[in-house]
Amino acid sequence: MLDSIPSFARLVAELAKFPGIGKKTATRLAFFILRQSDSEAEALAGAIRDLKEKIRFCSSCFTITESELCSICSDTGRDELLLCVVEQPQDLIAIERSHSFAGRYHVLHGALSPLDGVGPEDIKVAELMTRLEKGRVEEVVVATNFTVEGEATALYLARLVRPLGIRVTRLAYGIPLGSDLEYVDEATVNRAVEGRRDL
Ligand SMILES: [Zn+2]
Repeated sequence: MLDSIPSFARLVAELAKFPGIGKKTATRLAFFILRQSDSEAEALAGAIRDLKEKIRFCSSCFTITESELCSICSDTGRDELLLCVVEQPQDLIAIERSHSFAGRYHVLHGALSPLDGVGPEDIKVAELMTRLEKGRVEEVVVATNFTVEGEATALYLARLVRPLGIRVTRLAYGIPLGSDLEYVDEATVNRAVEGRRDL
């Protein structure tokens, strides 16, 4: 049936690419968009276009931003002795939401995963080392996810960073094993940051 309405089928196919969205939900969303006014639908299309046109990565920490430096990197009030390493920009957002960290960040854009062929050169490890060598960081808080890949990345970073004379810590208890930071509630992230331990 859908195949006879190509424009509708096309939108459903695009929406079904979203994480957690199956064909059924995609169809419901497509009907929702169809019922919207022209200007509402145009606003959605415009927001997607804008996102792709304007967003880039911060030249220092590699989180998403619309300028050369993100708002955290350009904030002189942040503690430059503390650097929190996360896998993705959404992890940074989760920690910021918990109001438990006043330092700066570094986004790796991934985690080590030898099985998937992801090595140190595929994530922002070299960029991290350059920052550490140039900066005044005294403690690196490794906040990679509590998954096999995240743990392996944490241990790898600890071995790399400690010889620079920099303390390396890891978020503590409370974060369930196997979980992504972005889905953990604020209070738990807060406790984990407060109770971080040496790696
Ligand atoms: Zn930044």
